Amino acid sequence: RLEQLEKEKALELRKKHVAPSLGLHYAAVKPIKVAYGRGQYLYDEWDEPYLDCINNVTHVGHCHPKVVAAGVEQMSKLVHSPGTKMADSYTQQLLSTFPDNMGHVFYVTSGTEANDLALMIAETVTGHSEIIVIDGAYHGHSKPLVGLSSYKMKEKDDSGISPNPHAWIASNPDPFRGKYADPATAGTQYAGEVKEMIDSMEKEGKKLACYVCESFPGCAGQVKLPEGYFKAVFDHVHRAGGLCVIDEVQTGFGRGGEFFWIFQSQGVKPDIVTVGKPMGNGHPIAAVVTTKEIARDFLAKRPDLQNEYKGNLVSLAVAEAVLRVVEEEGLVAHARELGGYILSQLSLMANKHPCIGDVRGYGLFIGVELTEGAGSKAPNGKLAKDVVAKMLLRDKIMVMQDGLDNNVLKIKPPMCFTRANADSLLQSLDAVLTDLTQ
Ligand code: PMP
Repeated sequence: RLEQLEKEKALELRKKHVAPSLGLHYAAVKPIKVAYGRGQYLYDEWDEPYLDCINNVTHVGHCHPKVVAAGVEQMSKLVHSPGTKMADSYTQQLLSTFPDNMGHVFYVTSGTEANDLALMIAETVTGHSEIIVIDGAYHGHSKPLVGLSSYKMKEKDDSGISPNPHAWIASNPDPFRGKYADPATAGTQYAGEVKEMIDSMEKEGKKLACYVCESFPGCAGQVKLPEGYFKAVFDHVHRAGGLCVIDEVQTGFGRGGEFFWIFQSQGVKPDIVTVGKPMGNGHPIAAVVTTKEIARDFLAKRPDLQNEYKGNLVSLAVAEAVLRVVEEEGLVAHARELGGYILSQLSLMANKHPCIGDVRGYGLFIGVELTEGAGSKAPNGKLAKDVVAKMLLRDKIMVMQDGLDNNVLKIKPPMCFTRANADSLLQSLDAVLTDLTQ
């Protein structure tokens, strides 16, 4: 009872003093006071475990002992010092996961900062000003990024933040719900829209600095980009003198299973890649990865770039431990195998539940699109919301909803997720859908 009072008090104080942007999951259902986390589980103040199918940030598992030990050890030795040896070794390891055109890393502390810097690099290097993004994108919380993240702009029409005046918003290249559905042509058709946009801006006397997109757009609904899309877009963008920036902040570090970075599934080599969230397993470290040439051009024009916490020793020790654990525990192959199993089981489930309109994903990043069913593709955000609530209350399993219509269940657990966890998730979803729709 005392604990319960504490929780209510905490909620009251939070409501009073903390900006609501510090999101509270399950605010309307059952706010959970998470006391600690281990592996793929979160525990409340009563030591009740919740299966975390949401947290891609704690990539190798909550409080992985090797990651914790690396951070603690470094923190007790030296926290901050300019010019570190560690950056050399980690940078080599990080670059070895990228295609061979990449040769330079800028360290920052969040995905937002990484994308802000990527925009600055693109504008500086090209001397151009315009930016193309896709509808439903989310690239960060700074003013310029909110202004081009239509996911946020739509939600916050009354926020007073105006759209980024340099942003051009291309269609969400969604083969399930979007306007082009034929897999043979959708990639080039969506890319054709990007080309038309470039033509329009040039007619207005403006020039393209960069195209920015996630490789598996998350907030836009876990959209599996049509084959050939990036290749065709990259050609158009490069012909216009722009750079191609891929945001892997949410998707990277092997979660996609087949590849370390999901953009590789499209067979392209971006000019700039931004990485973040899983990089530090919850510790704030992120980076902009680019070619030596772009970095050289940029640094010649902006040699004064400064960021006090860039590549600090604790962040680097943590990030290095994350890469080591991914390697030692074979997590990329694990994501491929387990993700493949979950996807195949979900496809079977879709035969039983007509409200499952589509299932798609890469490795352990999976979207389940809920519709009105019975031949209708109409998005069913209400059902997604009820499923999320019921899976929590019934089975203590945490999933979330996302997408332009909030009708896509988003599954992206810590990568130590097991086959038994997958079966619990699948059984729970099956039972909850049966309850809610039959
Ligand atoms: N890009 C993408 C695709 C993201 O998902 C996020 C975070 N949700 C960001 C950028 C911003 O990262 P951060 O919250 O670390 O600033």
